[in-house]
Amino acid sequence: MRTVLVAMPFMSADRPSIQLGLLRAIGAGHGFDVGTLHANLDLAARIGADFYRTIADARGPLIGDWLFAVEAFGEQAPDPGAGLLDELGITGPERDRLLRARAEDVPALLTDLAGAPDWADVQVAGFTCTFQQNTASFALARRLKAEHPHLITVFGGAGFDGGMGRELLRRVAAIDLVVSGEADTAFPALLRVLADGGDPATVPGVARRDRAAPPAPPHRDLDALPAPDYHEYFDRAERLGLLPEAGSGEVWLPFESSRGCWWGARHHCTFCGLNATTMSYRSKSPQRVLDELATLAGRHRTLRFEAVDNILDMRYLTSLFPAAADGRHDYELFYEAKANLTREQVRALAHGGVTRLQPGLESLSSHVLALMDKGVRAAQNVNLLRWARYYGIDVAWSILWGFPGETPDDYAEQAAVVPHLAHLQPPEGSGRVWLERFSPLFATARNRTPQRSYRHVYPAGFDLDRLAYFFDHDPADELPDEVYAPLRTALDTWSRDWRRDPRPSLTYRSAPGVLRIDDDRHPDSAGAYTFSGPIAEVYLACVDRPAGLPAIYRRLRPKPPGYVDEVLAEFTARGLIFRDGPLAVALAVPAVPGR
Ligand code: SF4
Repeated sequence: MRTVLVAMPFMSADRPSIQLGLLRAIGAGHGFDVGTLHANLDLAARIGADFYRTIADARGPLIGDWLFAVEAFGEQAPDPGAGLLDELGITGPERDRLLRARAEDVPALLTDLAGAPDWADVQVAGFTCTFQQNTASFALARRLKAEHPHLITVFGGAGFDGGMGRELLRRVAAIDLVVSGEADTAFPALLRVLADGGDPATVPGVARRDRAAPPAPPHRDLDALPAPDYHEYFDRAERLGLLPEAGSGEVWLPFESSRGCWWGARHHCTFCGLNATTMSYRSKSPQRVLDELATLAGRHRTLRFEAVDNILDMRYLTSLFPAAADGRHDYELFYEAKANLTREQVRALAHGGVTRLQPGLESLSSHVLALMDKGVRAAQNVNLLRWARYYGIDVAWSILWGFPGETPDDYAEQAAVVPHLAHLQPPEGSGRVWLERFSPLFATARNRTPQRSYRHVYPAGFDLDRLAYFFDHDPADELPDEVYAPLRTALDTWSRDWRRDPRPSLTYRSAPGVLRIDDDRHPDSAGAYTFSGPIAEVYLACVDRPAGLPAIYRRLRPKPPGYVDEVLAEFTARGLIFRDGPLAVALAVPAVPGR
């Protein structure tokens, strides 16, 4: 029995699908003939990698799903014209290109894919669906089932979590079965039942149209999983001319060292809709991670790896990363992490090969961070940016606003402090928080309605309340956009200054009792400061981590607290210290590298 696992547009074409790679390896390990098909690459090659990336990266407006809706639903498709483009205000060449892609590129892609000769020998087609992959997958499944009625189609992935999967299974005729939850155990069990001619609905986590099923239980022993197999991605990408010019070594290869979220299991960040079926945190042993990286590096000739984990296992800071820093591994790693990392921990990450970090900073206001239930203060976020700059780690982050309970002062204060942070990496973006299914905000949102784009994708009769992931709502105490305008302007300036060559800098050198600070953040106010005695001591009390006032008072004894308060106020006024309620953190980073 042959199975083909398919990744349709608009999954990123820049790296292989870990879902496909892992399930292929699991299936093969159980003795099944399982192939993969990165069909997303075919569309990227057809319409151009840059245009493809633009559509794939813009998840909210659902343009990718809209492009395939006519092929997925035929005459039932709700927007055969250009209603979505009108609503989004897309005009000119971009509009023409999208309409041409829908009229010409999408049908041609599906004809080529469905017309491939080997489908006649395939019994099971599996589709993994996350953002903007639904309608492309339905469209291909529809064509395949028309031409190969024997084919069994199985759908799964985050796009089928919870009620979304139940509604899609109920409405889309091209779906035979849905695997809900983690498929590591359910997938090979399903193949076994199908091979034996049994009832697939007997497999935990597998639903038929006439029989719902709770999600498969979370997989506990991640060490027992095989390394993903990405051969087909690289073969196909090379054949289609989509590999970077420098070859496969430029590709950031996805790997998995943990699942779930240890923070979310205790305090679910209010905006987060990830991990719908379980937050329960599990991780691989450090040696298992190193073994997997070595296997993938040797197999696919790349040293760049992107962890798909939602959050770093803090135990890796004293196990995996020191082991990776032994001088024999020169990997470049990307990880997502919680932001309250110390200097020592950032150093461990850097020495262990982490060159890119996504720490989920989200705000420079402790009040707003508390409203998000992020479990981190603004001073810790700033401190992370400092040490990431010092240790050469690229930080991907953004600023969100629009949280119930926030005040105009929260944003006026952030706008005021941003110019002092010019030497630190700015956010990649900023904007109003969006409402995701499965998030705490979703549960309490007032007048919640599926985002309007869904009406341009799914036919009448589909219950959008059940299948949508992005929602609009009517927050009770929403602040007007003008409140955020000064912060937005300050962030634009920050991003522009960051592109300066050389980059803005703020560094310090010190010796006992002496401190020199060189300030090159802004050309028109560049200069140097030298401090000595207790004034220098106050600053040095805050250079490693955010320091609480009692600790600084103790360090400065017998100077009275009032003296310390005055010095801190002066440093803060000069933009050399960031104050966050009872915490103070120096903004300068050491001038001497590598410590
Ligand atoms: S935003 Fe990140 S840290 Fe927060 S609950 Fe979601 S996955 Fe966990």
